[in-house]
Amino acid sequence: MKDVIIIGSGPSGLTAAIYAARANLKPLVLAGMERGGQITLTEDLENFPGFPEGIGGFDMYQLLEKQAIKFGAEIVYDVVTSVDLKGQVKKVKTADREYEAKVIIIATGSTPKRLGVPGENKYIGHGVSYCATCDGFFFSGKQVVVVGGGNSALDEGLFLTRYAAKVTIIHRRDRLRADAILQKRATENEKIEFIWDTVVEEITGDETVNSLKLKNVKTGAQTDFPVDGIFVFIGHYPNVDLFKDQVTLDEQNYIVTDRYTKTNIAGVFACGDVQDPVYRQAITSAGTGCQAAMEAEKYVAHMEGMAYPGK
Ligand code: NAP
Repeated sequence: MKDVIIIGSGPSGLTAAIYAARANLKPLVLAGMERGGQITLTEDLENFPGFPEGIGGFDMYQLLEKQAIKFGAEIVYDVVTSVDLKGQVKKVKTADREYEAKVIIIATGSTPKRLGVPGENKYIGHGVSYCATCDGFFFSGKQVVVVGGGNSALDEGLFLTRYAAKVTIIHRRDRLRADAILQKRATENEKIEFIWDTVVEEITGDETVNSLKLKNVKTGAQTDFPVDGIFVFIGHYPNVDLFKDQVTLDEQNYIVTDRYTKTNIAGVFACGDVQDPVYRQAITSAGTGCQAAMEAEKYVAHMEGMAYPGK
């Protein structure tokens, strides 16, 4: 039986792995489908303390993983299919293995939301994207739309100006939610235009996207907007499907934790975006990963009747 299994390999999961490994808990990380999580979709992490020149999201993931392995974490590139968290011995299944552990740390992150309009699913990978870093290159010299008014929309919209001839940001209100610094950069960028108070009602095309049906939510006016690609950045869903019948969720489906990253189940901790609808930063995810590992250490010591050295 393992002391600690960590489900997820983003900044929260790998930070938990570093701390748990250094506490000699020999954690097993089940890395999941998207190794490294959402930071790997980020071209440049500019606000992670200690990197004044910024660091590539994928580079950050590789460094975190290397650091976790260096201290004794085991990383398995497998996807969890079910969990049984209720008993004192926690069970985790993948397609062909079953693991047992004293502690589970849930670090499964979140997934980008879809618009839910006709044509969206049909054109994913053919003009509809949720990742500028992954797909921006394919739109060199082209016209693209970004949907959303938050930090992601502006960050990714600015990134897309490296490739696209024009980036039109379509927002459903007339005020942005994004940080002031990003608003300033976007409004000053001559490749970026805004369309306010407008939603996308349909995505159309032939082999690939070539037009959007737009509606002004104030006037009701509908227009066709010719475009080569549409990037959607309208928020995220926490990845809780595996746990939702066992762990308490809030009204937005995020895992409820106390200030010590404890869930409603003893021995089950949650960290990173799966329990954070507010901050959702690489640094805050890493912070809660650290907390979860330190709490796991206390829990294991308590189970074994040992005094926790930090107490
Ligand atoms: P967000 O802050 O929740 O913003 C989502 C945006 O999409 C909002 O402007 C929202 O409009 C719009 N929206 C939501 N549902 C929509 C729909 N169905 N149709 C059209 N528009 C819709 O999400 P985010 O931008 O992904 O950011 C998430 C978190 O990550 C935030 O805490 C953010 O600060 C952080 N983040 C930080 C950075 C950075 O620091 N550089 C970069 C990326 C993300 P309303 O404004 O009308 O609600």
